Amino acid sequence: MKAHHGMYIGGEWRPAAGADTIEVVNPVDEQVIGRVPAGTAADVGHAVRAARAALPGWAATPPAERAAKLAALRDVLVARKDEIAETVTAELGSPLQFSQAVHAGVPIMVAGSYAELAATYAFEEKVGNSTVYHEPVGVVGAITPWNYPLHQIVAKVAPALAAGCTVVLKPAEDTPLTAQLFAEAVAEAGLPAGVFNLVTGLGPVAGQALAEHPDVDLVSFTGSTAVGRRIGGTAGAAVKRVALELGGKSANVILPSADLAKAVNVGVANVMSNSGQTCSAWTRMLVHTSQYEEAVGLAAAAAAKYGDRIGPVVSAKQRSRVRSYIEKGVAEGARLVVGGPESPREQGYFVSPTVFADVTPDMTIAQEEIFGPVLSIIRYEDEEEAVRIANGTVYGLAGAVWAAEEAEAVAFARRLDTGQVDINGGRFNPLAPFGGYKQSGVGRELGPHGLSEYLQTKSLQF
Ligand code: NAD
Repeated sequence: MKAHHGMYIGGEWRPAAGADTIEVVNPVDEQVIGRVPAGTAADVGHAVRAARAALPGWAATPPAERAAKLAALRDVLVARKDEIAETVTAELGSPLQFSQAVHAGVPIMVAGSYAELAATYAFEEKVGNSTVYHEPVGVVGAITPWNYPLHQIVAKVAPALAAGCTVVLKPAEDTPLTAQLFAEAVAEAGLPAGVFNLVTGLGPVAGQALAEHPDVDLVSFTGSTAVGRRIGGTAGAAVKRVALELGGKSANVILPSADLAKAVNVGVANVMSNSGQTCSAWTRMLVHTSQYEEAVGLAAAAAAKYGDRIGPVVSAKQRSRVRSYIEKGVAEGARLVVGGPESPREQGYFVSPTVFADVTPDMTIAQEEIFGPVLSIIRYEDEEEAVRIANGTVYGLAGAVWAAEEAEAVAFARRLDTGQVDINGGRFNPLAPFGGYKQSGVGRELGPHGLSEYLQTKSLQF
């Protein structure tokens, strides 16, 4: 893994406009592993011009040819799978096995799904006496977070390219090496120059310049609700399309008829996975009062087994943020069952897997997104209260429901104000629409719904 000193623009690595750089740090040992250029508005300007110049040719490329290029991109990602996993592990700190299975495996699956969709999607349809064309929106500005570095990139770039759009990507400053590796893969797959462009840099500089650029037609952002609100405002003022994938505080609702041990164990694993840095993590576990203490005991035992094997969080800043939430939980009267604010290791940005019981719905740790390995267990008296608690945050990204009968879980899930619900531990589906209700966002990613975000319609009447 080597860091590039330039930006990937117009099909080549070009020197950055300025001399500033960003240090990339390994969260396990706090060592600097590389430096990438800190892009400015000038770099963003060059990249947007390259994307604009490439747009007519790519938009006019037959979908089958776009599909073939995406299949080639998927094949390069497959060939470089180990390198991807090692790079994500080096800059995010996740255990190598998890990086191989999830950080490399899922984007390969998603890239493959868009290679197929580009070939089969109905870009043209008949509606009465009209023919409706689904045409690319244009130049896309994609801004991504660090928590799933390659997945977040592929979940935007693959559907945008399938739709016939061209892209400028501004990846997270904590994980730019994975983004550079992706740009290498794009070049190796033979995508035409300018179809995909990469500008590394800081959010308030390069990210903001991209979100505000007048020649970007659509901004697709994944990250915090605070930044998303601002980007949505900018896009609204410019009457520009915007997709926002934001934060979450999802509920794992265990109904009394469920297999309690299974629901608790899968629930704890879900929260600890990726060191709790998953926007859709089920960080609130809702348990009926009759099973509450048993569930707390099971969750404590499950969480204690993880120790420091889950890996660190991404940065010192993230570690202090997570610790301060744990301290707040204690201060507000929640019962600390496992873990706590102390680091389990002297070196590295590690946080102990932490479980709180006696969490009430109004506590800060039950309302705000922590983005660390912290689970809050909340008691409910009856189903109505469970629905009220589950829906009682500003977020609505994901969730889970467990019951003996699927129909009972489905009936409950239909009452949740949230974009995705796993029934009795349902499997990940790369074609299912992913995105939020309420302040968890606007728009959907993945599958055909994700593709349609990058299309606009034109109807011809006959
Ligand atoms: P963040 O909002 O700080 O940063 C996300 C991206 O936005 C980064 O690339 C950053 O450089 C850029 N950015 C920051 N300020 C900007 C500005 N003023 N203008 C333009 N771009 C700017 O979020 P983060 O800390 O990197 O990621 C964690 C957050 O992301 C969590 O809240 C999490 O829930 C959310 N997230 C959501 C999803 C989802 O699909 N809904 C997925 C992953 C992460």
